[in-house]
Amino acid sequence: MSSIGLAKIDIKKLLSGDRRSLAKAITLIESSRQEDNKEAQKLLEQILPHSGKSIRLGISGVPGVGKSTFIENFGLHLINQGHRIAVLAIDPSSPISGGSILGDKTRMENLSQNEKAFIRPTPSLGFLGGVAQKTRETILLCEAAGFDYVLVETVGVGQSEFEVADMVDFFLLLMLPNAGDELQGIKKGILELADAVIINKADGDILPQAQKTLAQYSSAMELMRNDPNWKAQVLMCSALEKKNLDTIYQMIEEYKNISTTTGHFQEKRLAQNEEWFKKLIFELINHKLKLDKGLEQKKVQLKDSVLKGVKLPLAAAQEYVDQIF
Ligand code: GDP
Repeated sequence: MSSIGLAKIDIKKLLSGDRRSLAKAITLIESSRQEDNKEAQKLLEQILPHSGKSIRLGISGVPGVGKSTFIENFGLHLINQGHRIAVLAIDPSSPISGGSILGDKTRMENLSQNEKAFIRPTPSLGFLGGVAQKTRETILLCEAAGFDYVLVETVGVGQSEFEVADMVDFFLLLMLPNAGDELQGIKKGILELADAVIINKADGDILPQAQKTLAQYSSAMELMRNDPNWKAQVLMCSALEKKNLDTIYQMIEEYKNISTTTGHFQEKRLAQNEEWFKKLIFELINHKLKLDKGLEQKKVQLKDSVLKGVKLPLAAAQEYVDQIF
């Protein structure tokens, strides 16, 4: 693959909202070639002053819960309210193809044809920060291109939910209307991440079931989260029949208004950046250490001694760290 290069990316066009330039810019930051990486960092520096002005919305839920239906119809609703929306889909199940399953545009046919929408799969490749680094950078690019709602979609079964919750302003968890089946295949801890739980498919014969589920989750969330800045909401909707989508929109706008007034909106973003900075330092150090063959060998020897009971873990760790410095 040849280098993509900054020269070919028209920054003015990107800032004016041109989707082709945006797509090219994302390809550049996703590239694993070293020369592209440098260009990508330059590009990010240039667009950084134009980024930040969006609501970053995480959307998760098990396969089949209705994420694509929800994003399609909720996305169109947002567009009707005057917004421009970007959808970034993370697909942990296909690391090599770079997320072709979730990114499949046919899943959101009407939305993908709308010129106020931009849909893009996010690859789960790359060592540095894994999926999170590229997605974070992609969010910045989308914002610079004037997309004021950035939806980051994940499947509610893996680690990526935790990563996504750390990069968005508001995390929506979609649930099936099955009262009783409490966890619904959602990994432990993910429910706690939710700023709002949405019981989807609240329509037709399933409506009473959905109402029961709503009551269950309302009390569950009450016990689970104790966030002084925002009381997690539990709502229901029908993504398919476009019911209650405006209530969800109003809730998110309310969150933005309240948290902007209190300063929490900005504080949360700064805290996320600080955490991310610390995590990256850790990862970069680890990566550098792994490149040092001598050190790696030493680590293997020390681990052996620990496993054989010859050395205590602290003594072994100390010896390793002493060798580094
Ligand atoms: P995803 O795997 O989470 O992206 O789920 P999809 O959006 O592909 O939806 C899975 C199935 O549920 C599809 O057959 C949808 O038509 C259906 N579905 C999605 N939302 C609703 C809804 O609100 N009500 C009903 N009755 N069906 C829905």
